[in-house]
Amino acid sequence: MSHIAENVKQLMAGIPDHVRLVAAAKTRTVEEIKQAIDGGIQIIGENYVQEAIPVFEAFGKKIQHHFIGHLQRNKVKKAVDIFDMIETVDSIQIAEEIDKRSAQIDKTMTILIEVNSGREPQKFGVLPEDLETFIHKLSNLEHVQVKGLMTMGPFSGDPEAARPYFVETRNLFEHCKLINLPNIKMQYLSMGMTNSYRIAIEESANIIRIGTKIFGPR
Ligand SMILES: *Cc1c(COP(=O)(O)O)cnc(C)c1O
Repeated sequence: MSHIAENVKQLMAGIPDHVRLVAAAKTRTVEEIKQAIDGGIQIIGENYVQEAIPVFEAFGKKIQHHFIGHLQRNKVKKAVDIFDMIETVDSIQIAEEIDKRSAQIDKTMTILIEVNSGREPQKFGVLPEDLETFIHKLSNLEHVQVKGLMTMGPFSGDPEAARPYFVETRNLFEHCKLINLPNIKMQYLSMGMTNSYRIAIEESANIIRIGTKIFGPR
């Protein structure tokens, strides 16, 4: 068995069954991704629509495809074709474009809202204080289903440093569950990467996005 497949098996053995593992595949080849799938990966996460096209052509609907990068408006049409979930919606403009393009192909796109839990000016994501207003706006889009929240948190070498941001995002998630609106159903909390996924799971993440621990250093 390949190293990559071994890494996936080991990782999966150490996480609870209810946690969905997304293999963050930026810069990886189709062959590397195939090895991850051989190891048991069922969801591939892509940061760039362009990189996702050959992956989609190779594996299609055999696996799920999540978009985890920053989506540009001119890429939405293609993204809506390829992805089962867009994890990083943070503006009403992009959400409206997703709605429009999804309607054209008779699809309802599942999305997560990216939260800028670290309140870092250079980072993407909705600020915690703007989240509820944003959700109300999204609720009007008939071809968009909001299924949860995603956060990156500030990067730091120390995994424990991420915990307060995961806690804050979990609290937002619990709060948003109480909002009763059409097209909003808070089900997924996507947080945690190679260095922080254990802490993210302790703080209720049910989607984790792992690159380095599966594929090795970039
Ligand atoms: C690259 C990436 C990951 C995975 O990062 P690793 O530290 O390699 O596990 C997770 N989420 C997003 C959005 C990424 O771009």
